Amino acid sequence: MVAIESKDSLYVENLLPESEDFFKGLEAYALENKVPIIDKIAIAYLIQLFKIKKAKNILEIGTAIAYSSIRLCEEVGAKVTTIERNELMQEQAEKNINLRGLEDRITMVKGDALVLHDEVVKQAPYDVVFIDGAKSQSRKFFELYEPYFADDVLIITDNVLFKGMVSDPSIIQKSKDLRQLARKIDKYNQWIMNHPNYSTSIMPFGDGIAMTIRK
Ligand code: SAH
Ligand code: MG
Repeated sequence: MVAIESKDSLYVENLLPESEDFFKGLEAYALENKVPIIDKIAIAYLIQLFKIKKAKNILEIGTAIAYSSIRLCEEVGAKVTTIERNELMQEQAEKNINLRGLEDRITMVKGDALVLHDEVVKQAPYDVVFIDGAKSQSRKFFELYEPYFADDVLIITDNVLFKGMVSDPSIIQKSKDLRQLARKIDKYNQWIMNHPNYSTSIMPFGDGIAMTIRK
């Protein structure tokens, strides 16, 4: 399912080649267990973009079940270092990475991405950084990992439109927490769009993707 629904995005999603059975399994698991993996249009787009960039070394914040890690590793041909703090997700991710035989190409760091881990420093610099952890912490992640960005880094932040809730918080009926989260994402978007050292464009498909490069 596409996150931002429109006739056009449903049409585009239907044009995408059918997923391999392995990925269909992961997509079904994610849907069933409410694991917020990246949507199909967005991952297809990122794969194109990272291939054009000839990305070799990706840092990902937020592994979940390793859906995006595996697709990026296999289809872009890049090494991936990915950080996950949730134990159940770590188990699932490990299982999936092993099933694909990618133990040597994907390094999962088990722990909180708000803490700097030796393994992450060891693999630096990163030519692509994919920020996809807790949505209220994107700025912290950005600033923590900034010293490990390559000169020609491309930073992708996922879910910056958060199902329409950032542009129109009035669609959030009950949850105060969600309203606060939408405000925090808006704050991040404003911060990154006005950053003196980086230029960003936000693409309103998938769940909203911010694409950031150095000025
Ligand atoms: N990138 C994945 C989806 C990640 S979902 C994909 O598209 O397939 C977000 C994940 O980030 C969740 O599994 C959550 O446990 C993890 N996460 C959130 N905040 C984190 C943090 N501070 N440190 C490590 N992992 C975090
Ligand atoms: Mg995401």
